[in-house]
Amino acid sequence: MEKVIGIDLGTTNSCVATFENGRPVVIPNKGGYKTTPSIVAVAENGKRLVGHVAKRQAVTNAENTVFASKRLIGRSFDSPEVQHTIKTAAFAAVCGPNSDVRIRLHGKDHSISELTALILSEMRRVAEDYLGEPISGAVITVPAYFNDAQRQATKQAGEIAGLNILRIINEPTAAALAYGFDKKVDKKVAIFDFGGGTFDISILEIADGVFEVMATAGDTFLGGEDFDHRIINHLVEEFKQENDVDLSIERMAMQRLKDEAEKAKCELSFSTSRALNLPFIATRDKRPLHLRTTLTREKLEEMTGDLVAQCIDICRTALDDAGVSVEEIGEVILVGGQTRMPLIQREVEAFFGRPPCKNVHPDEVVAMGAAIQAHVLIDDSADMLLLDVTPMSMGIATAGGQFCVLIPRNTTIPTQHSHMFTTAHDNQPAVKIAVLQGESRRVSENQLLGEFLLSGIREMPKGLPEIEVTFAIDSNGIVNVSALDRDTGKRQSIKVTCTGGLAEEELQRVIEEQREYEIKERDEEAVTRECDRIESLTQEIKKLLPRAERLLGSAGVQAMDRKLSAAREAQASRDAARIRGAGQELERSLTTLRGLVTP
Ligand code: AMP
Repeated sequence: MEKVIGIDLGTTNSCVATFENGRPVVIPNKGGYKTTPSIVAVAENGKRLVGHVAKRQAVTNAENTVFASKRLIGRSFDSPEVQHTIKTAAFAAVCGPNSDVRIRLHGKDHSISELTALILSEMRRVAEDYLGEPISGAVITVPAYFNDAQRQATKQAGEIAGLNILRIINEPTAAALAYGFDKKVDKKVAIFDFGGGTFDISILEIADGVFEVMATAGDTFLGGEDFDHRIINHLVEEFKQENDVDLSIERMAMQRLKDEAEKAKCELSFSTSRALNLPFIATRDKRPLHLRTTLTREKLEEMTGDLVAQCIDICRTALDDAGVSVEEIGEVILVGGQTRMPLIQREVEAFFGRPPCKNVHPDEVVAMGAAIQAHVLIDDSADMLLLDVTPMSMGIATAGGQFCVLIPRNTTIPTQHSHMFTTAHDNQPAVKIAVLQGESRRVSENQLLGEFLLSGIREMPKGLPEIEVTFAIDSNGIVNVSALDRDTGKRQSIKVTCTGGLAEEELQRVIEEQREYEIKERDEEAVTRECDRIESLTQEIKKLLPRAERLLGSAGVQAMDRKLSAAREAQASRDAARIRGAGQELERSLTTLRGLVTP
């Protein structure tokens, strides 16, 4: 059976898992870590760096390093979330052709889908190294509260990464699959998922292998990063008061602060106070300044209590939407790194009236669930059924700027709804329809997914044409629209192009570019491997040569020297065929030498 993978594409870290011997297995990366930082960078020589290597060089290459790109995916450049993010980021961002965000790294603009694709490609490589074969089929997880544009942009990222996206599933739902897998579970559970960039709560009913999401709610711009920013702001303010120096305008200083703030936050989950020490963070009057302070857990909780309160409010909405009381929840499962914070654990316990379950690994459970779902999708004999919901209402704009809901939030997906449209004027040849997602009654307060024109309507008095438009949400939570002209029976295919994504032509170009880059990268790696081989052959030959000199004679020694110089020149040329040839020559020479010196 084809091997498939599940990828938890996190804001801070990503994780990949597969299904082996009847179980989900998390795959460690080359460094042995089970999660990989969701960080990408472009080095001065144009090399793209992902994960730990990108993180390690972030302080010295801050403006070409991108953290938490998931916070920007599928969003339009003008949105407050994007503006907020780029204000504090070290990289430069510009508006793209589709109102999307482009990040300028070493003078080249990259879409967020392209940058996300680099992380997905890296996760695919981690899996391929482990499984020893090329992988394409994957399930990718997204926050349950991602809208259509964010899902489409994530799907595009998967395509750029050369993956065959079997399904996009919601993170909390994936966590529930992993929790209930292989167990006899018959209860309602709440999945409280607080990661680096997003918060989601899902209420599910699990019974007889059926995982039914009853309601989901969340905030795609509330996560661990916000806790880090609170600490950073506090440190910047304190430093300004003590030294009259504003660190917020120093890119490198801000990068160091970010690292230190996150470390302190994580450690404060296990200790009650943490010393922060950043020597030589700035200078004043040519004198070095050092940041030395102490942060207590109490102070951190005071600075971030409102963020935790927001999560609890969202939990209330999810329970109301599910029509379930707190007492009916049989288990509360914590997912995502930020749930290690004691304040969050206390507040969750106080709200749900029960201690949360400690049996799942908060960093790995989502990828494991994605791997289970990937396996279920290719194995007909698997008897698990996942019934998810759409997190947001979908509808159309009507006269007077009112939002008319066609598919309410928390409807089980896939689903579809048809709506009849007609004309407002005699002989009107076309009707324009705006598709939106959101919960406000007002059009302007919802997310515009796209507008399309129903054209080619036959000349008729107003109100007579009947055009049936079907709005559908597929199993990935992605919106599809089709239209039928009842008069002619003609079906119009309508494409809702999302803002924040790539147009088809650019998508194809970027896919091609990524493929070429990967081939080049693989060739480069092969050349480096061959060069390393030449290096060790050379060392061994040099070691044996003095012992074989007498038997070789001066002509033989000179011939050996010539081969060694040819190998050095081949290494310098970086020409794969030449290096391979030189390596083979050295190997032959080494065999001869060994034969001569072996008694
Ligand atoms: P995730 O998106 O699930 O990888 O979660 C990442 C977020 O969890 C980041 O904001 C981390 O700083 C945060 N995190 C990880 N470990 C801890 C910890 N021990 N205490 C508090 N937050 C943590």
